Amino acid sequence: MKECEYQQITPGAAPAPAPAPSGGSGLGPAGRPPSGPCGVGPGVGPPGPPGSPGSPGSPAARPRRKWEVFPGRNRFYCGGRLMLSGHGGVCALTFGLILATTGLFFVFDCPFLARHLTLAIPAIAGLLFFFVVSCLLQTSFTDPGILPRATPSEAADLEKQIDSTGSTTYRPPPRTREVLINGQVVKLKYCFTCKMFRPPRTSHCSVCDNCVERFDHHCPWVGNCVGKRNYRFFYAFILSLSFLTAFIFACVITHLTLRSQNDSFLNTLKETPASVLELVVCFFSVWSILGLSGFHTYLVASNLTTNEDIKGSWSNKRGTESAANPYSHDSILTNCCSVLCGPFPPSLIDRRGFVPPDAGIPSPAKSDAKPAPGMDEACQDFAISCTA
Ligand SMILES: [Zn+2]
Ligand SMILES: [Zn+2]
Repeated sequence: MKECEYQQITPGAAPAPAPAPSGGSGLGPAGRPPSGPCGVGPGVGPPGPPGSPGSPGSPAARPRRKWEVFPGRNRFYCGGRLMLSGHGGVCALTFGLILATTGLFFVFDCPFLARHLTLAIPAIAGLLFFFVVSCLLQTSFTDPGILPRATPSEAADLEKQIDSTGSTTYRPPPRTREVLINGQVVKLKYCFTCKMFRPPRTSHCSVCDNCVERFDHHCPWVGNCVGKRNYRFFYAFILSLSFLTAFIFACVITHLTLRSQNDSFLNTLKETPASVLELVVCFFSVWSILGLSGFHTYLVASNLTTNEDIKGSWSNKRGTESAANPYSHDSILTNCCSVLCGPFPPSLIDRRGFVPPDAGIPSPAKSDAKPAPGMDEACQDFAISCTA
């Protein structure tokens, strides 16, 4: 894969960004490395000196973990170990539907099919069910690749640097930057909520109120954003769910057909109303799930995200000459490997880490201070260094 490096404004004394783990951008939020002085990184931050307000030994105040002061709209469980978006209720509905349909299948169809055909049917259904549920839980409870917001001092420093990059009286300060990735100019937009320039392929989820790396889409069915860190689980989930739904559908039809050989079809339907219910649920869901799996297979093979596909970022729809996807490799196989089997990046929000006593808490503003629409486009672009 072609490596791309570029330099973003580095607030304060933060060192240069660490190299990217998977060949993408090596950019930390607001230009800081994954483990910065504010303890935002994969490890647990230092609890602070004894006696300080944030230290564990202090009787005055309980040390707070970062998930307790997290500015996004996520909900945390088990002391910050698990996280969901603010609208996690639909995720419970998805889980309930899968559980109910598979449960009915095991109770009303499997005994008959195991007796008359083979024991492999309940075994395969069981394996598929556990795989589907584990993929769903991993998609829902994994950090999708949230970028921590800039701290007030970092944001102020970045603002100072933006203001000093040649804005005149009549021009707004530049709120976009350009980087060159594999020969393509990619625009980085400034996020007014997270107070930083979004790295390539990052987008701000309006539901969760976070910037998410390699943002694909916000999926209410799994109750989470789908991004850099949980896309592979999401893809495995929809793919295995297609197999499970199609398998149950085929088995229920087989069950009803075998039963109706000795009785009329209507009597068979009356005998096993649960099978009819499963048939209806599977019939209406299998098409959408199969369609979704096919669409995401196309995205994986092209190394695209849903967000880029909908916006037509790399298609000719925009009428630009250079419309090739700069993240795509030469072969479909390499694209699939890089999307699904690449190194698993660490979480940057360190939600179990302690809040350092002297660290400013990132702005919890829920996009209140958004400028007028179109300001991004009106801003002056700023080319920065890159090697392709
Ligand atoms: Zn943002
Ligand atoms: Zn989201």
